[in-house]
Amino acid sequence: MTPLRNLPSVEQLLQTETTAHLIARFGRPLTLDALRQTLEDIRARFKSGTLAGLPSIDSILASAESTLTAWTAQTLHPVINATGVILHTNLGRAPLSDATIRAMDAVSRGYSNLEFDLESGKRGSRLIHAEALLQKLTGAESALVVNNCASAVLLTLSALANKKRVVIARSQLVEIGGGFRIPDVMRQSGAKLVEVGATNKVRLSDYQSALEEPAALVMRVHRSNFKIIGFTEEPDFKELVDAAHTAGVPVVDDLGSGALYDTAQYGFSHEPTVQESMQAGADVILFSGDKLLGAPQAGIIIGKKALLDKIKKHPLARAVRADKSCLAGVSATLMHYLKDEAEREIPILKMMSLTLKQVKGRAEAWRDELRQGMVVEGQSTVGGGSLPGESIPTYLLELKVKSADKFLRALRKNNPPIIARTENDNILLDPRTVLPEQEGALLVGLKNLLRG
Ligand SMILES: *Cc1c(COP(=O)(O)O)cnc(C)c1O
Repeated sequence: MTPLRNLPSVEQLLQTETTAHLIARFGRPLTLDALRQTLEDIRARFKSGTLAGLPSIDSILASAESTLTAWTAQTLHPVINATGVILHTNLGRAPLSDATIRAMDAVSRGYSNLEFDLESGKRGSRLIHAEALLQKLTGAESALVVNNCASAVLLTLSALANKKRVVIARSQLVEIGGGFRIPDVMRQSGAKLVEVGATNKVRLSDYQSALEEPAALVMRVHRSNFKIIGFTEEPDFKELVDAAHTAGVPVVDDLGSGALYDTAQYGFSHEPTVQESMQAGADVILFSGDKLLGAPQAGIIIGKKALLDKIKKHPLARAVRADKSCLAGVSATLMHYLKDEAEREIPILKMMSLTLKQVKGRAEAWRDELRQGMVVEGQSTVGGGSLPGESIPTYLLELKVKSADKFLRALRKNNPPIIARTENDNILLDPRTVLPEQEGALLVGLKNLLRG
């Protein structure tokens, strides 16, 4: 057997043309690192007897190349969402409009007037960029964009209710997902929780008795991811706002998804809109950028100027502030609403407003192209902590496969990965959430797998 000392050295490997190519692709330090690690592994395996003979130089370099490829692979990359869940939190929530991506790209590539007033040539404020748009769209006196809605809740309560009482219905002390619990965030802000009502029922009189003692805020939190059905009661929001105002207490409304459009027009049930909350008289309204608004990740705070001024001045505002690409993206998406082109431009609204005929047409085209499967009726959902348990009819391509689990795994290994769902051991693909420009890649991936 060839002795270990015949193993080539790093120096020898460096003389090869293959290594020169690796250096060009991955850089010298990383390539050296990979060569050393590959040789070390071989030595270890050789000594432990799990390697019969010394590998050739070509095979050593091939191992080094796979190591380099693994080290430099992006962990975050695009996938094809064929699940029919429109705002899939695990798949990055809302895809963005072309104009939004262009705006984010433009400010990221170079410098911008993020905090520079072009008129005076002096320091400006990053807060103005989305504010005017939000004022115009919602009629709010003032607005602020932060990192996400969770930070909007934390900041708002810290600024307005530290060490003070906040009155909230017990049925709204919800966990949003990923361990984000409203009561924990409220405590974190220093607010003193005053829970009113029972799990299923809260009456106006419950709020009124809690408001007999001084309170900083009344808070409403939208139950984004579950429904209470049966023997339930909650006062009308307008009545609640009036009762709070009678007691001289402002109302904060955490809407979560922040729809500007009525989702009922797409066949879902009605989700409270930002405009309705404004009309009912909420003093501060909080919502996410990347839920039903269809913008990048952001938390949007709108409301009365006096309260927003306090929020903007709080030290946490700096800690949770939005960056330039977020501000550019949120503004570009809001502009679609202002110009009444949201349904045409914002991907999630396009998906929701697809007609059954259009979805069926796409599923049939996939079936014809693959020469396999059946087009069947099914349901698409919104997901992402909006419209709990709500779905709208769709058409699915159903594929019969030997093992659904194995096929799903193979789909996930495709480049780009394809995420689908199964029912009764069949694979289901929903055209509603597959972006038109991804259809080609989806069909190539499926053809390869179905053939293999
Ligand atoms: C989703 C949600 C949040 C958290 O929003 P993020 O933008 O994900 O931080 C907060 N409150 C409610 C009611 C929500 O639905």
